[in-house]
Amino acid sequence: MTETLQLAGLEFEVRRSDRRTTFGLTVDRSGELVVHVPSNTSGDELSGWINKKLLWVHRKLALKEQTAPKLLGPEYVSGEAFSYLGRRYRLKLVERQEHPLHFDGARFTLRRDARPAERHFRHWYISAGCDWVARRVEALSARTASRPCRVEVRDLGFRWGSCGRNGVVYFNWKLLQLPVRLADYVIAHELVHLREGHHGPEFWAALSRAMPDWQKRKDALASGAKEYLVFGLSV
Ligand SMILES: [Zn+2]
Repeated sequence: MTETLQLAGLEFEVRRSDRRTTFGLTVDRSGELVVHVPSNTSGDELSGWINKKLLWVHRKLALKEQTAPKLLGPEYVSGEAFSYLGRRYRLKLVERQEHPLHFDGARFTLRRDARPAERHFRHWYISAGCDWVARRVEALSARTASRPCRVEVRDLGFRWGSCGRNGVVYFNWKLLQLPVRLADYVIAHELVHLREGHHGPEFWAALSRAMPDWQKRKDALASGAKEYLVFGLSV
């Protein structure tokens, strides 16, 4: 069994060896943290040593993030797939049509001269998704026992959602690419923020009451959202 240690919000895999006399720490390609220690190292010694290395670890991880391949934007070519609520729809380029971008329920058609077309897609996601988000807010607010006075779908940069003052909640239009259960997590999260501003214990307790499996959804959002994102969050 793998021994792991949670420290300062990070997870370290601990590898013990009889042959080791010194401590070592590696950050592998995927950002996995591994500590190599002599077999008889105590838990206190281990966490004490790691604590001294935290600054170095954070620097390494930040560097990895910078050099990681960026999500490539769409190319707007025929056959390319765009995701709406987790379903993929193909794009077809056309020479003529009234609006730059059209969706017929089965596929997108884009006028060739309307590329690059992010603003057309943004417009489409917002107009197609506004009602859906409003309905989900309605359904989920019954569970979170908090109701916003207004909901807006717009560009939010690197955030999925945000809870403004005066009871307004905002959602990123890019959220509409995600499957329903992941989008629902973001919506429930922001609705709970109407009552609890910070991520304290009360916040997570309230979220657990509204959505018992939120942790699974949160993890899936962190690890699996990319496959749906033709339009990634801007950093
Ligand atoms: Zn939050």
